[in-house]
This record gives sequence, structure tokens and C-alpha cells, in this order.
Amino acid sequence: MSILVLGGAGYIGSHTVDRLIEKGYDVAVVDNLVTGHRAAVNDKARFYEGDVADTNFMDQVFEKEDVEGVIHFAAFSIVPESMKDPLKYFDNNTAGMVKLLEVMHKHDVKKIVFSSTAATYGEPKQIPIKETDPQIPTNPYGESKLAMEKIMHWSDVAYGIKFVALRYFNVAGAKADGSIGEDHHPETHLVPIILQVAAGERDQLQIFGDDYPTKDGTNVRDYVHVVDLADAHILALEYLKKGNDSDAFNLGSSTGFSNKQMLDAAREVTGKPIPAVMADRRAGDPSTLVAASDKARSVLGWDPQFDDVKEIIKTAWTWKQSHPEGYNDRGGKD
Ligand code: UDP
Repeated sequence: MSILVLGGAGYIGSHTVDRLIEKGYDVAVVDNLVTGHRAAVNDKARFYEGDVADTNFMDQVFEKEDVEGVIHFAAFSIVPESMKDPLKYFDNNTAGMVKLLEVMHKHDVKKIVFSSTAATYGEPKQIPIKETDPQIPTNPYGESKLAMEKIMHWSDVAYGIKFVALRYFNVAGAKADGSIGEDHHPETHLVPIILQVAAGERDQLQIFGDDYPTKDGTNVRDYVHVVDLADAHILALEYLKKGNDSDAFNLGSSTGFSNKQMLDAAREVTGKPIPAVMADRRAGDPSTLVAASDKARSVLGWDPQFDDVKEIIKTAWTWKQSHPEGYNDRGGKD
């Protein structure tokens, strides 16, 4: 039986496919290659190019594959873009989930591991954020993912489709050998942008806001290595295979780093000056997001290997140096 990875050509998806193959799973990937890269997908996975919301196409995939469980990464995930174009997010992410669950129900597939996000919490009332804390998103991206969690909940109640929602905090880094990594067009995430400045591709980093109520005024985020995140999906799948109930887990390191601290860490790792300027706040950004992730550790047995942001940045830098133009495949054309 196969594990079907939706969005398996994307950043986190491709690392998860790679880890699944390393662990001996039979893997099939669906990706529309709008933001993903064909070259990021491990050769041992079967690849289907198409859209998760295309019911006919997905029907054919489920006909061909004997799917044991689905891992669903296929979504848009850029906070500022979601503020400008919320319907794009509700259509692709939220409506796409409805279509997916319909096909899963039709083919009697009962397990799904889902990429949720810290953005479902919005501006937290307390730090670290627990899974039971209120979910009040401050941007349409988070809202689209929260709606997806709720749709999965009611599909569990009605059809018995069990889910694990993994609420990611900030993911960074790359496979240690630098063979796969992060390649977004346009790039909006902090670590790859810092490394583009280090590589001389951008003149300077803009730090979005230095008047937040944090230790140095810049946003604080909780960084997890992409391979540790990938491993959490496999543990979540195993958790469902054991017959456990649907649940949600935070995936973070439980340690917060400010944007300025990330810049300093990157300067140290790369040995480059990395010029930076202060800029206006970015719409939709909560001030601090730090996870309580003990539930994933105790229930799923998650044991992240990277506990130091410098080590995380180092792997991203290895990828950047060996792939200065990313996959160079014109993937992620927008
Ligand atoms: N950020 C920044 N400059 C950039 C890109 C990001 O200051 O060029 C900040 C952003 O405002 C946030 C943090 O870096 O405080 C992490 O943003 P990112 O987009 O990487 O992830 P998010 O927290 O939105 O998931």
C-alpha cells in the first residue's frame, strides 16, 4: 500500500517524501508544480502532475494507487499574499480540502496527516502556545487552514476519516547533504532571504518592524528544521495506523528567536556582513509565536535532532551554496 503525498514537490513535502523513501515506504506524489519542483521529488516516488482540487484527476490517482494514508501539503502559504488575495486562499486551500475529502471518502481512505500552522492561533494570549489555546487567526492564510482543520473534524465525525493536524511554527534548513532545499519564487521567508543577501543576490535585508513588544522590538519566531518536521509527519502517520484518534500537535522547538537574533546567527554561520535595515511592520504578523511542543514529543514520540538555529541555518547555507539558483527549473513561476 502507498502513502500519497499531496504537494510532495514543495519544500516540506519533498523532504518528507525523501524521509518516507529512506524509511522504506512506498510513496506516490501529487503536485501541480505551480510552486513545487519536479527535481525535488525523490526518484523512487511515483509522480502524478495535477491538481488536488481536480476531482477527475484525483479519482484516477486513487484508482491506480492502493492508498493507505494521505499526507497533505498542497496549499498556498504566504501570509502577505493572503491579506491581498484572501479568496485565492479559501479557494485553493479550504475548498481544495473539501474536494480531497470527498475523493478520500469515495475510495474509503481513512487517514490524513495535514500541514496546519501556528497562524491558526493568531496573536497568542500566552507563550508558549498550547494546542488547546484559542484559535483566532490574524490573516486569511491562518483562517483558511483553521477552516480545513474544522472540515476534517466533521469528516471524522461523519465518515470516520481520522486526521492529525500538525501546526507548524517556522520551518527552515535543508537536507544536510544539500541535495534538496527551499526554492520559492518569489521568496518571502526570513532565512532564505537572509541567505540571498549573504550570497550577494540582494543588497540588504528589510526587518519588518522593530516596535513590537519583544526583547529587541522585532518579531519572535520558533524555528524547526525541515527534516525534523518531515519526521513528525511519519510519526503522525504511524500514530493513525495504530488506530489512535484524530488530534492536533504543535511542531516547534519551544525556543523563540527574534528576527535580529536570526540575522546575527546567519552572520556568524556565513561569515558575511549581511546588511540590514529596519522597515515597516508587515501586515498580518503576530508579534511572538513560540510553541509548546511537549505533546508531539510525548504522544507521537517526536525527537527533533536540530536544537540550534545556527545548525539549521548552516544546512540552508549548504543548500544555497550548492544550488545558487535553486532547482533552476522555472518551477514556482508566479
Ligand atoms: N521577515 C522580515 N524580513 C523579510 C522576511 C521576513 O523581517 O524579508 C520577518 C517577518 O516579518 C516575520 C519573520 O521574519 O517576523 C518570519 O517571517 P516568515 O515569512 O519567514 O515566516 P512566517 O512567520 O510569516 O510564517
